[in-house]
Amino acid sequence: MPRALVIGGGVAGPAAAMFLQRAGWDVEVFEADQEPDPFEGLFLNVATNGLAVLDQLGLRDRLGSDGHRAPKMVMRSGTGRELGAVPNGPAGDPGRGSVIVRRGWLHQVIREGAIAAGVPFTFGARLVSIEETPTLVRATFADGRIAEGDILIGADGIGSPTRRWIDPSAPEPRYSGLVGTGGYARVHGLEPTPDTQYFVFGARSFFGYLVRADGTVYWFANMTTPEPARGSLREVPSAQWLARLRDLHSDDPFPVPQILANVTGEVGAYPIFDLVGVTSWSRGRVVAIGDAVHATSPSAGQGASLALEDAITLAKCLRDVPDRADAFAEYQRERRPRAEAVVKYARVIDSQKRVTKSRIGIAIRDWMMPKFLKNAADDTRNDWLYNHRIAWESPVPSPRP
Ligand SMILES: Cc1cc2nc3c(=O)[nH]c(=O)nc-3n(C[C@H](O)[C@H](O)[C@H](O)COP(=O)(O)OP(=O)(O)OC[C@H]3O[C@@H](n4cnc5c(N)ncnc54)[C@H](O)[C@@H]3O)c2cc1C
Repeated sequence: MPRALVIGGGVAGPAAAMFLQRAGWDVEVFEADQEPDPFEGLFLNVATNGLAVLDQLGLRDRLGSDGHRAPKMVMRSGTGRELGAVPNGPAGDPGRGSVIVRRGWLHQVIREGAIAAGVPFTFGARLVSIEETPTLVRATFADGRIAEGDILIGADGIGSPTRRWIDPSAPEPRYSGLVGTGGYARVHGLEPTPDTQYFVFGARSFFGYLVRADGTVYWFANMTTPEPARGSLREVPSAQWLARLRDLHSDDPFPVPQILANVTGEVGAYPIFDLVGVTSWSRGRVVAIGDAVHATSPSAGQGASLALEDAITLAKCLRDVPDRADAFAEYQRERRPRAEAVVKYARVIDSQKRVTKSRIGIAIRDWMMPKFLKNAADDTRNDWLYNHRIAWESPVPSPRP
């Protein structure tokens, strides 16, 4: 039985492991963190296309059991005026809309799914080097442990050491100009927002929120700010973030200031990077998937879903394409155009979130946007994001147009 070493126990890694196991591979997942962190990374959107992959792993319903269905996104101006609504899923089909979940919950559901399927999962295993011989690939971990396999799959996220091993000259992630902050809140009297997430183009920072059925508010803000020094955001205490956010959003409409006045728990913050233009996704026995080779900013709500799509596609290629190098090439050919199109789409949204506009610029945007979004609820332009279904049972290579 061929053996795959999967580096990274986030989204792409355990999903790829489960699909590969179905295809007859012996797999093991190695995760750098010592233990799972249920609160890491706030919350994120798992889009219709990502849910379709989870469905094929039998994990969709479990994920949704602690999720907020959000097939609709409502935009508001900094004065509280409704600018329009956009589908978060295929147009005119809210039943197939996307779901918002805590990032830690997504990781937990996929990890537990993999473990239940019998995939060995090792924590505290930080990959530090890769070595390839004519017959195998060897991974060495920070604690000196060594593992060997026929292939190594780097699902090691945006800072991927695997990407750098595949191509030391690969592009580095690019800072978006935005820092993401967010957390949770409870605001007395604030009604739940079923099926909906709200976005506010605040005067000095972009804000998003939803209210779950039990009254818990999920909120985030994207602050326009120069690139912070590496690791520096972790040093900033929650109270300092809150003071800054309350100031930035003090003139924004209800319920933005009220949410920021009633935050529960810690405020998370991370610089938003993306990654595009990685030309080599594999070398020899090593291949990379997910954020390791294409990272989108959260603005597209597609990071986790693309990672899931990569996982199923790579496993299908390894199942159906006899030669390993051809399988890796087919996987990249299938995935790269779509993944990079999503990254570029997210960049356009990022540019609208960055607060560089003059008062006149804001007035023009608020005047234009309702016209632009007037028929957005039935606008099929973004259906390419959501209606991308990769069926496990269909063979690759898929026919070329
Ligand atoms: C802090 C943070 C917050 C985020 N918040 C949002 C959000 O709010 N909305 C949104 O849409 N997207 C968000 N994202 C992006 C989204 O989570 C990713 O697009 C998605 O998880 C990609 O899946 P992945 O498996 O490729 O990478 P990840 O889920 O990042 O998983 C990579 C895994 O590899 C492990 N790893 C890294 N290096 C090594 C190593 N050397 N050895 C072994 N293991 C290693 C990491 O610990 C991690 O568990 C966030 C990402 C981060 C890092």
